[in-house]
Amino acid sequence: MQVNSPDVEYTDKFIDANYKYQTTNVTVQNDGMYKVTPKTTTYQFRTQRNVPKLGVMLVGWGGNNGTTFTAALLANKHHLTWNTKDGPQNPNFYGSITQASTVYLGTGVDGEVYIPMKDILPMVNPDDIVVDGWDISSMNMADAMERAKVLDYNLQVKLRPFMEKLKPRKSIYIPDFIAANQSDRADNILSGTKWDQLTLIRKDIIEFKQTNNLEKVIVLWTANTERFADVKEGINDTAENLLNSIHNEHSEVSPSCLFAVASILEEATFINGSPQNTFVPGVIQLAEQKRVFIGGDDFKSGQTKIKSVLVDFLVSAGIKPMSIVSYNHLGNNDGKNLSAPKQFKSKEISKSNVVDDMVESNKILYKDGEKPDHCVVIKYVPHVGDSKRALDEYTSEIMMGGTNTISLHNTCEDSLLASPLILDLVLIAELCDRIHFKIQGDAEYQRFNAVLSILSYLCKAPLVPEGTPVINALFRQRSCIENIFRACIGLPPINNMFLEYKHE
Ligand code: NAD
Repeated sequence: MQVNSPDVEYTDKFIDANYKYQTTNVTVQNDGMYKVTPKTTTYQFRTQRNVPKLGVMLVGWGGNNGTTFTAALLANKHHLTWNTKDGPQNPNFYGSITQASTVYLGTGVDGEVYIPMKDILPMVNPDDIVVDGWDISSMNMADAMERAKVLDYNLQVKLRPFMEKLKPRKSIYIPDFIAANQSDRADNILSGTKWDQLTLIRKDIIEFKQTNNLEKVIVLWTANTERFADVKEGINDTAENLLNSIHNEHSEVSPSCLFAVASILEEATFINGSPQNTFVPGVIQLAEQKRVFIGGDDFKSGQTKIKSVLVDFLVSAGIKPMSIVSYNHLGNNDGKNLSAPKQFKSKEISKSNVVDDMVESNKILYKDGEKPDHCVVIKYVPHVGDSKRALDEYTSEIMMGGTNTISLHNTCEDSLLASPLILDLVLIAELCDRIHFKIQGDAEYQRFNAVLSILSYLCKAPLVPEGTPVINALFRQRSCIENIFRACIGLPPINNMFLEYKHE
């Protein structure tokens, strides 16, 4: 695909695009009138065309997501097919927006033209990703895949020769941060001080990169949900204080925080797929200082994804959600860990703010500070394994005091929803690392802010740079990705106006 425009130039190394970014400034005058001023800023985007050899290191590699992600990459790469009771099954990446969704490109003679999202800009091919990682459980990846009970048995048999060679590296285990019920799997752990362990993780990243001749490594946390760490002045509020706290063995420095710091110091993008507050202010400041991307928090895979569509639909339809009650039960190890109160609290916080932007956008329905009641329950039911049940009830006020109640029951293998998100997170984060831009008149190109908010679509509690609006509405998040990618090839945002079809 090549764009034919005087504003776009393709060289061996780069795609250069001039782009007019149109925004609207609004001020409120003394008389309460809005003064609205359209603004156009010219950007130059520069995207590196060469795709690096990419390595991905997962923390919690031996868990359900870690094994399923690795298995999916291998099955797709080696074209493994397997028999199920319904017949032969081929591997795919359903659920990944980069691999299995399309984006609207424009209009051709035969109507609208859509292309795979992965083809809009040069992206790493999943087949070429090298995977490694850490786990507090020493089980090799074939046994861990079997323990996870996610994939069809016949596929497991085909994957075993590939997976049994893979063994997680020793990890950082601080029992205070995850549920006590996880202690029996912790047989693969590092010893030494926090600083020693940080250094060992850094060495792992370096060794993995060198051994596999990689140009880039991304580290992603898909280990168990930790409790929140206390954010305290002098402890983890600045990069310097955080590094001192690691030296001083401070008890509020969590394993995920140590992994984030190790990755940032090794210039490896760090993504947090779990809900805990890994990104304490000191981590964010360190990432900004070192200009390394961080992204998170908590994969937005099922219930929250639907919530961020449904509430957006209701509020934008002028209907007023009054109560949202979300009940889950699951029986995998994630559910076991979340059955402990402090770890559940992290998940509850992550799940609770997901409708705020939609509610705040409509002052006709909600007065200042008014919000729907929002309740989240998670129960551990071992029998259902990875097949998570989510039951939701949305009660809304409709015209003239009427009531609309929507009930949903969603059953789904949790890790088969989360694993494609891991792929998207690393592929989009990697691509962002090759995108530079400058505003007309600037001497130097810059990168996106270290806090990679473009990943919001994939996250339940999107981390954004300070002062940036948090967007949870799913299709707004998606159009951010699509339109930034389009900007990189000099195409205007998708406006859905179709004026060309509205003439007499
Ligand atoms: P899991 O329990 O199967 O896997 C987690 C793995 O992390 C385990 O193998 C465990 O041994 C390991 N671990 C724990 N602490 C560790 C540490 N300090 N270092 C290295 N390894 C460690 O859980 P899962 O289903 O794979 O989910 C992983 C995480 O993703 C959880 O925090 C979960 O809340 C989050 N998440 C999952 C989904 C989903 O749909 N599956 C959605 C959103 C978030």
